[in-house]
Amino acid sequence: MRIDKFLHDMNIGTRTQIRKLIKDKLVFINNELVKTGRMKVDPLADEVRLEEQVIEYKRYFYFMLNKPLGVVTATEDRKQKTVMDLFNKIDKRKDLFPVGRLDKDTQGLLLVTNNGILAHKLLSPEHHVSKTYEAVVTGKITEDIALEFQQGIVLKDGTQLKPAELLIGEYSALDNQTIVHITLNEGKYHQVRRMFGSVGERVVSLRRISFGPLDLDVGLLPGTYRELTDSEIDQLI
Ligand code: URA
Repeated sequence: MRIDKFLHDMNIGTRTQIRKLIKDKLVFINNELVKTGRMKVDPLADEVRLEEQVIEYKRYFYFMLNKPLGVVTATEDRKQKTVMDLFNKIDKRKDLFPVGRLDKDTQGLLLVTNNGILAHKLLSPEHHVSKTYEAVVTGKITEDIALEFQQGIVLKDGTQLKPAELLIGEYSALDNQTIVHITLNEGKYHQVRRMFGSVGERVVSLRRISFGPLDLDVGLLPGTYRELTDSEIDQLI
C-alpha cells in the first residue's frame, strides 16, 4: 500500500496535511526517510514512524458517540444531519457506520465502527446484546408495569416481546412523570416508546446509557465522541 494512503487510513491527517508531513521529512519506513507519498509500505511488516512516534497499523476503528437529539442515525441523508456529520474530517473515514440505530429524538450511546463482522454479530438476535435506556415517562410507573415488562408484553400490533427489565426511579408529582431505566434484550422499531404506549403512557425523553458491556462515558457531551479503549474493544469482541 502507498505510504500516503497508510497514513490517511490511520487517521493521521487530511491528504493535504499528510503531503506536508512527507514534504517536511517527518515520515520514515524502517528508519528510511519517505521522500514521496507513492513509496510502498507493508502495513503488517514495516515500521512506520512520524518523527519519533511509531504508527501502529489498525484495521478496525471503534468510536463511542453520544448522539444528540435531532440527528438521524444514518451514514448519509440528503436533507437531514446524520451522526456521521458529527465526526471531524480526520476521523470521518468512508467505511465507518453506526451499529444499529437510535431514533432522531433519542440521545445517547451509539457505537460507530468499520468492523462489519462485529456489527453483524452485535445486532444478531442470537447474540443478545442488552441495551439500557434512561427514560422520562408520563404517569406514575408502578411495579405492576415492571412485572408485565419482565414477563414479556405483546405490543398493540401483536408483536411478542422478550422479557425486559424495568427499574423505577423518582416520580415527580408536579410533572406527573417517572424516571426509569429499562433494559432490552432485542431491538425492535421504536421499542421503548411502543412499550410505554402499550401501558397508556408516553416517553417524554429517551437516552441510551449502555450497549452490551459499554457504558455511556459521562464525560462525552451530546454530539461528541471518542475512540474505544483497548479494554472496551476486548469486552465487545
Ligand atoms: N426505543 C425507542 O423507542 N427508540 C430508540 O431510539 C431506541 C429504543
